Amino acid sequence: MDACGRIIDYLRLSITDRCNERCLYCMPEGYCGWEQTPDALTSEEILRVVRVAAGLGFRKFRLTGGEPLVRRDVVELVRAMRGIPGVERIGLSTNGTRLATLAAPLREAGLDTVNVSLDALSPEAYRRITGGRVESAIAGIRAAVAVGYERMKLNTVLLRGHNEAEIRPLIRFAAGLGLPLRLIELMPVTETEGLDETAFLSVAEVMDELRREEELIPAPNLRLGHGPAKYFRLARTGALVGFIGALTTPHFCDTCNRMRLTADGQLRPCLGNDGEIDLRALLRSGTGNAGLTAQFRAALRQKPARHAFCGEYAPCRPMTAIGG
Ligand code: SAM
Ligand code: SF4
Repeated sequence: MDACGRIIDYLRLSITDRCNERCLYCMPEGYCGWEQTPDALTSEEILRVVRVAAGLGFRKFRLTGGEPLVRRDVVELVRAMRGIPGVERIGLSTNGTRLATLAAPLREAGLDTVNVSLDALSPEAYRRITGGRVESAIAGIRAAVAVGYERMKLNTVLLRGHNEAEIRPLIRFAAGLGLPLRLIELMPVTETEGLDETAFLSVAEVMDELRREEELIPAPNLRLGHGPAKYFRLARTGALVGFIGALTTPHFCDTCNRMRLTADGQLRPCLGNDGEIDLRALLRSGTGNAGLTAQFRAALRQKPARHAFCGEYAPCRPMTAIGG
């Protein structure tokens, strides 16, 4: 439990800061500040952190990045995590572009759930936003559906001027596959030239727009996994849509249950605050697990009551490095 009485049992692990896409809101154009190989945690170091976290009561883990599927040992990492006592659920956040070949081996290795980012369906809009090919992402999504992951979701970052016209087609596409689509407010986590604050589009505005065509029926008791989304069903189609209003929802942080480990081994109590605790130095200094456990406890004490996105927050490094 943290100082605010929240149960923190979910650790998001950025297993690489590298990515095969270049999303406007995530990675600055021409970004070259990659972790150097010696700085990135090895899989043995990541597994040690997972063991310590599980010993402290963390039960849910998610591999993210950067793009976690560019890391070559990702299947072995999942398999090894599966064998750690206390690890109940393992999830993955991915852009989906490498999922077509990896969906089945990851499931077999013990991955429970997959969230795939999909910001547009039209190839042009997808390319403008991510730099990549939507066909690859769709092939990955279909492969994961065929394999049969539990609680799979699609995620779309709302971007005024870039993907408003994509929202309805995305909802239909997700519903056609039996998946919920979560619409996420843009967070100021990365300074990029391709995007400024005028691209912010609130979930309230999108809900109003959707209501012009059909009723949104709240699904208040629906919690798919442990995320912060509020879910609604579209009355006519039955499509399930989640809204994540990190910037505009009052008390958004009251139910926060997570901390993050960056690709270079910093334990980060809050995405929207700069504070980090260096685990890598400890991991490499020969310190025993008691020392790591003490740092986890310190991070829990330091976890702020709320993010600082609407105040002082200045991105010190891009989202890929922190782990979205
Ligand atoms: N590469 C994977 C992916 O795209 O899903 C995992 C890493 S990505 C950083 C994790 C999630 O963070 C994605 O859903 C992405 O859309 C989201 N994200 C990245 N930058 C964001 C921002 N500035 N605001 C809101 N969400 C963001
Ligand atoms: Fe890569 Fe994911 Fe960031 Fe897009 S959101 S640049 S796919 S890490």
